[in-house]
Amino acid sequence: MPPVAFIDGEFVPLAEARISVFDHGLLYGDGVFEGIRAYGGRVFRLTEHLERLYASARGIQLEIPLDFAGMEAAVCRTIAANGLTDAYVRLVVTRGVGDLGLDPRKCSGPTVFIIASTIQLYPPEVYQAGLRLISCRTVRTPASSLDPSIKSLNYLNNILAKLEVARAGADEGIMLNQDGHVAECTADNLFLVKDGEVVTPSPAAGMLIGVTRNAVIEVTRAAGYVLREELFELEDVLAADECFLTGTGAEIAPVREVDGRPIGTGEPGSVTNQLHEAFKELTAREGTPIEVGVR
Ligand code: PMP
Repeated sequence: MPPVAFIDGEFVPLAEARISVFDHGLLYGDGVFEGIRAYGGRVFRLTEHLERLYASARGIQLEIPLDFAGMEAAVCRTIAANGLTDAYVRLVVTRGVGDLGLDPRKCSGPTVFIIASTIQLYPPEVYQAGLRLISCRTVRTPASSLDPSIKSLNYLNNILAKLEVARAGADEGIMLNQDGHVAECTADNLFLVKDGEVVTPSPAAGMLIGVTRNAVIEVTRAAGYVLREELFELEDVLAADECFLTGTGAEIAPVREVDGRPIGTGEPGSVTNQLHEAFKELTAREGTPIEVGVR
């Protein structure tokens, strides 16, 4: 079957899927989105992703035209219509079609589209060798400007940091907040292991609160580790025994160096590997079955 996209309630062949050049998602990055993953016919933490989507929409005063159950069904139907059981789903809600001015009130109503694909974020070597990180000069947007816990279509702050990463020939970049505390990476959350305890920046550092982050916190505590959410600095990353990133695409990805300095032994750590195995078990047993969701 040819791949299809969901656009405003209709399925259209992916090759013909179009949105207007007057859509404010395109003109101004005015909208919100989610990246969601399905494993073996089950959508991982669909409720949590949709709760974040609706919270993000509230954060930019955007009213999503579908209710929660309708959106859940739309996601599952898009995966099913593409014949996928393992999938990466991109769900986007824009302010919709307006004129060339900023004013959202001139928009006729939100555009909702969903794409289901099969991308893999990092190649398998990354999980064996670990990622090379740099610390970015680009500071994470302060909550007083645009709350980073809103997953908006405005990703330029992260993209500017990602360009630094590319220039340095690295894999990912650590973004600090205005006070110099570690916030997150350009598209992943960050965790440390130090003296057998696991630490991740507290939400007060200003970040996207990852669905994977929350799942990894649960898995870490279930495995018997002390897990602390707190503010820390780049020096604490450099002094850690292990460091790993979390995200929907990455799952748990080990970090081998930051700014050219090895973290711990410079190889993926045992706690990181143990937590990744536990996370994979969680993705295999949990999730909304696609056939249940489509109803
Ligand atoms: N931080 C940022 C800036 C992100 O874009 C993402 C999603 N790719 C994450 C963290 C991780 O969030 P999640 O675990 O929900 O994918």
